[in-house]
This record gives sequence, structure tokens and C-alpha cells, in this order.
Amino acid sequence: AARNRPEGVARYTGRMPSDGVLAPHLMSELSRALEREEIVVYYQPQVDVATGEVRGVEALVRWAHPVHGLLPPAAFIPAAERTGLIRPLTFYMLDRVLRQAVEWREAGTPLRVAANLSVRDLLDPTFAKRVERLLAQHGMDRNVLELELTETMALVDPERSMEVLQALAHLGVVLSIDDFGTGYSSLAHLQRLPVHRLKIDRSFVTGMIDDDACAAIVRSTIELARNLGMTVVAEGVEDDSTFMSLRDMGCDVAQGFGLGRPVPADQIEALVGVIEDR
Ligand code: C2E
Ligand code: CA
Ligand code: CA
Ligand code: CA
Repeated sequence: AARNRPEGVARYTGRMPSDGVLAPHLMSELSRALEREEIVVYYQPQVDVATGEVRGVEALVRWAHPVHGLLPPAAFIPAAERTGLIRPLTFYMLDRVLRQAVEWREAGTPLRVAANLSVRDLLDPTFAKRVERLLAQHGMDRNVLELELTETMALVDPERSMEVLQALAHLGVVLSIDDFGTGYSSLAHLQRLPVHRLKIDRSFVTGMIDDDACAAIVRSTIELARNLGMTVVAEGVEDDSTFMSLRDMGCDVAQGFGLGRPVPADQIEALVGVIEDR
């Protein structure tokens, strides 16, 4: 039953313009929302394809707005990026996520937690130091934290972001390329980045059963990751046949609505049980 729980985002009933951009006054509300703890973290399970066990989660931000209801990231992340509010938001998320990781470890269900970065984080020369401080504050092993970035982000200022990424990799946090296959970076650029995982974009995964071209892209991305010594995560796994096909292809990790929707932290443990029974 837990795996069928609707994602909170569906409850959003506010008047968001169709372009997803909130009115300017909502941006000043966002900084207050951070103080008032209206920014909440949902977690989506990541399943080890070979064993069916949940080993990690991706943290996905939501804004529990007092008037507009639960807002999806698309409603406020783009504006937060433009205004620079994304930097405090990233740190708020990292703090929450590490606190949660400590709780899961203490409960005997340790999980790796992945958080999403923004381009501003990658251009901030103090970013890795601040992540290091946060990890120390929480007393958390560095490889418990995974940070996701897109190829496009890393290309905005390749030299500056390379320095930030190298510092993060040196720290021992896990780095992932998100939405892989949708950017325009070359394989030569990818190969230079100090990243450990590729996340195949869900547009290829969701269609792979019916579309041979999608299946071919997924298959060759898995092979590419393997050849580069990276692990590979498939996002957007919506049904069992996709999961089984990914297992046949040797994919390492799967994530998607068919395995578990993003839910508040306290529902993750129940979901772990459900998935282990599959
Ligand atoms: P993303 O990083 O690619 O995250 C995956 C998105 O796909 C999530 O949407 C998730 O709910 C959705 N998803 C997961 N499985 C499935 C599936 O099987 N089918 C379909 N159709 N969708 C699936 P969400 O939570 O709305 O997040 C959207 C985007 O917002 C994220 O895309 C990420 O780019 C951004 N985002 C989320 N949280 C944060 C954050 O804390 N910081 C930053 N900077 N960006 C964030
Ligand atoms: Ca992501
Ligand atoms: Ca993604
Ligand atoms: Ca995405």
C-alpha cells in the first residue's frame, strides 16, 4: 500500500502561472519560509537492482506553503536560482538531509542520501569547505552524502566548477551526473569530471519497453558507465517490466514511481519493507 501513496505535489491547488514562475512577493516569502521551516524534504527510494534492497534515497525539496499548499520545486527553484536564494536553500537541504541520515543510521537502517546542487553551488569556491564543515557538525561519514549535478551545470564555467568538484571528490562525497543524456557535453568532458555515478534521464528509461531507441540509449549508457568505472542509476522506473529489463542489462540502481514515490522521511522505512518483499 505504501508504494501507492500519492505524491504530495498532487495536492497543490494554488494559482501558479503556467510558466511555473511565482509572483515576486513569493520570493521574499521564500526566505522567511526557510526560517519558518516551511521548506520540507521528501525522499524517494533508490533500489539496488541485483538485490531489490533500498540502499539510498534522493532528497527532493517541497515548500509547504500556508496558503498555496505543497509547492513542487518547479514552482520556486528557478526563481531561487535567479535571486541567489538557492545557496541558503541548498545548505538548508544539506543540513536537513544529514540530520535525517544520522537518524536512519541510529535506527539501524543506514541509507545514502543524494541531494541536488544548483549551478551557483558549483561556482562557489567555498562550497566544498562548507560541506566539509556540515559533515563534521553532524558526525557523518562522507560517502553517505551524494551530490547530484547536471552536465549543463558543469559547463557554465568548466574551470571553476572543476575546482569545486575536485574538492568535493577529495572530501569523499559521492558525485553523480543527473539527467544524463539530455545535456550537450562531450564524452571527453564527462571523462574528465571526477564523478562516480551516472543517472540516466527518465525520458529514456520510461519509454524503454516500447521504444527500441530508448532501450538502446539505456543499454549503451550502462555500458559506458561500466567502462568508465562508474555506477549507473536509472530514474523514472514506473513498472516491473522496466525494472526487470534494467536488471538484465546490468543496471546498478533504479529509482521511480514504480518502486516508490517521494515521501516524507517517516514513510521511507515502511517503503523499505515493501520493496524488500518484491
Ligand atoms: P530531478 O533531480 O531529476 O528529480 C527527479 C524528479 O522526477 C522528481 O521531481 C521526482 O518526483 C520525479 N520522478 C521520480 N520518479 C519518477 C517516475 O517514475 N516518473 C516520473 N514521471 N517522474 C518521476 P520533483 O521532486 O518535482 O523535482 C523536480 C526537479 O527539481 C528535480 O529533478 C531537481 O532538478 C529539482 N530539485 C528538487 N529538489 C531540489 C533541491 O533540493 N535543490 C535543487 N537545486 N533542485 C531540486
Ligand atoms: Ca536529481
Ligand atoms: Ca534527474
Ligand atoms: Ca530533471
